[in-house]
Amino acid sequence: MIHNQKRNIDAVDNHSQHGNVAPKKTQTKKNNPIRQVTQKWVHDDTSIEVLPTLEEICILHGRLPNDLTLELQTTNCNKLPAHLRRYRCTPCIGKSVGFICAFKWIRQWICKRDPPNVIVGAPILPDFTTHPSQLDYQSPKFPTEFNRLPHPQDLLELRRLLAKILLPVIEKELAWLQDPQVKFIGRRIDLVTKCDYCSATLIGAAWLCSQCGAEACTKCFQLLVEQNQVGNTTLPDVHIDWLKRLKTCTKWHHLHTPTTYNKISHITQEELDTLRKQMLPLTENYETSPTSTSQVEPPNPYSVPADLVRFLHQPGDGCTEPYIKMQVNDLEADPTIFDRLWAAGQMIVVTGMSDRLKKPWTPDYFTSKYDWDTCQRIRANCPLQLPVDTTVREFFKDFTKESTKNQEVWKLRDWPPEADFQEKFPDLFYDFEHALPIPDITTRFGIRNVAAHFPTNGNVPDIGPKMYIAMENSDQGGSRAPLFFTWMLPMSSIFRLMRSRGTAKAVLYGTFTTPKTPKLCASFYISIKPTNFNSRSKK
Ligand SMILES: [Zn+2]
Ligand SMILES: [Zn+2]
Ligand SMILES: [Zn+2]
Repeated sequence: MIHNQKRNIDAVDNHSQHGNVAPKKTQTKKNNPIRQVTQKWVHDDTSIEVLPTLEEICILHGRLPNDLTLELQTTNCNKLPAHLRRYRCTPCIGKSVGFICAFKWIRQWICKRDPPNVIVGAPILPDFTTHPSQLDYQSPKFPTEFNRLPHPQDLLELRRLLAKILLPVIEKELAWLQDPQVKFIGRRIDLVTKCDYCSATLIGAAWLCSQCGAEACTKCFQLLVEQNQVGNTTLPDVHIDWLKRLKTCTKWHHLHTPTTYNKISHITQEELDTLRKQMLPLTENYETSPTSTSQVEPPNPYSVPADLVRFLHQPGDGCTEPYIKMQVNDLEADPTIFDRLWAAGQMIVVTGMSDRLKKPWTPDYFTSKYDWDTCQRIRANCPLQLPVDTTVREFFKDFTKESTKNQEVWKLRDWPPEADFQEKFPDLFYDFEHALPIPDITTRFGIRNVAAHFPTNGNVPDIGPKMYIAMENSDQGGSRAPLFFTWMLPMSSIFRLMRSRGTAKAVLYGTFTTPKTPKLCASFYISIKPTNFNSRSKK
């Protein structure tokens, strides 16, 4: 058991140098449950679709008249009057499952004081978010169970390593906050905060479109600025779809220009100052080899340390590039081998693992255990990927049949759906965890696995394991090879166990070394659709 290492991030209420909106005392969710308000917004004149702005009202009256006030948007945008639909954010317009409004608890409306909720002017973004639901990240619950009892040195090493990686980020964020234009919009610990254009995780600094609610990372916003400067000429080395998405606002506003964005932060200066003070002493005189998570030049994919070249395996096919292949006993005999290869971003194929799994990972086992559980299957070769309802028993009945010509090739869709592997398959989960080599880093609760230290009430990275069960896809005239299972840890994506029934011919996996990831990222930009933008989405 490890004592919680509480971070001092409760200083939001002291943050007042930027603005005119005084933040309220910050409270935890437990002490101050968030009331669900069903506010009804009204507007007197349904013929008006464009409201006067705060500036226009102030110019007209010299200041905001006494009978008007600013009211926080406590509902999603769909509760606004229909003729004001141009003020809806993209998630509210799209209404996709589980959507989260981009402006709820963040935006303020110019309203009459009496009666309340009568809108008279366009919304504004105040300098500070003060609502508890936007400040939920202040009560992290840190995990206390790990794969083993840690030595104090383990924890010190971890803190030093993280401080070395994160300190430059924290300092960049602090520099960002030097601009008095930055508005603090808060952050909820249980939501993902990502760039809506490239899916980069947002720490604090970002740009928020005041019209559609999209958030751009600093890199994507810079791209928009540059594109705006060159006009109709397309910037070189930028994928046209990425650029198109970046420029597209809602249908009422059409195109983005840099002026529609507000400079925002999800973290307060006090929190950043506290983190910096804690990290500085940890980074003094501390040298580490670069890790795959740090912002350094990507390593040469095949630069294996000289004394480990003996583990380099050259496949006999003549076209596959060499990779590290090791017996698990060799790998575990000297843990520094793994550390060095991991730090260099090297892929490792580990052999000799067959005796480690104790449970029968077979179709019979799944059928006997989960029997009539409902699930969905998808035709593997169908581009539409339409799910078909079935049961575990029915799926595995087809799954284990002798293959025939032109037989459908099915895969199970996300089974168990949206559920945690550990809860749905505890015996398999622990069987898998106990089988993994280098458990300090590779297992869910590994003491050196950074993801194992995420707050349990936060949006923890999905590090698996996930199960993928499919009949083997065939490109040979409809004949079907036997089934295969894979179990994988997607985040660390270093260990995959694969089992096949009978005489599976081959399963093709792509593995990518670090230098290739920019190309992969480019392909991800293409696959994200504007209507799917997902900052603030739930885990
Ligand atoms: Zn909305
Ligand atoms: Zn981005
Ligand atoms: Zn927009």
